[in-house]
Amino acid sequence: MKTKHPPSLASIKAILFDIDDTLFPSSEFSHLARHNAIRAMVQAGLPTTQHYAEKVLNQIVESRGSNYGNHFDLLVRRFPCPTPSRVVAAGVGAYHNTKSSISPYPQTAHLLLELRERGFILAVASEGVALKQWDKLIRLGLDPFFHHVFVTSTNKEGKTPAFYRQIARSLHLHPSQILMMGDNPAKDIVPAAAAGMHTGRLLLGKHARERAKASFALRSLSSLLWILPDHRKN
Ligand SMILES: [Mg+2]
Repeated sequence: MKTKHPPSLASIKAILFDIDDTLFPSSEFSHLARHNAIRAMVQAGLPTTQHYAEKVLNQIVESRGSNYGNHFDLLVRRFPCPTPSRVVAAGVGAYHNTKSSISPYPQTAHLLLELRERGFILAVASEGVALKQWDKLIRLGLDPFFHHVFVTSTNKEGKTPAFYRQIARSLHLHPSQILMMGDNPAKDIVPAAAAGMHTGRLLLGKHARERAKASFALRSLSSLLWILPDHRKN
């Protein structure tokens, strides 16, 4: 059966993807990594409970930002700890063990392969430290699926309309030929739409309840296969 697609989506040649909570359940892994770290720290002698230490750590992460490197040192300083280095080392080890075992949403690899076979150009549009973003893609085993990876530094402007317009120029496409997929309205949807791109919002992770207008919204990335045309069938 032939599915009808709105003519605007039929013009899409390239698809951009955010990474965190779009290609893999980043919030779930962060939560799990912190949980495992605290468990190891309490085991190594941090004199408090799992529950309370998690609460304090979450406050520290919130106030310092997730890219700050010494969350566990600050946590240990809040308690009268006789062997602080041992406790920090236990936490860092458990945290990285969990973070190094990240995996994509179960449907991600199949989706990317199918979209490539349909002839779409696939790219990552991400914000953060380039090395960290590449590290995630490689650990996820997803880097070979993408033709291009664009990372904008958070220290500069981040994901602005100018960042998305620059991507369109790099791909030699008009913004209306590009679809941006992501979970964060302020970074993935609003600025990409302002640059003239189509936007697909993923209702996953911590931004799922925010209000924002996108071209369409999905609860799972795999639904993209129903929405986007398959040019091979024409
Ligand atoms: Mg995201």
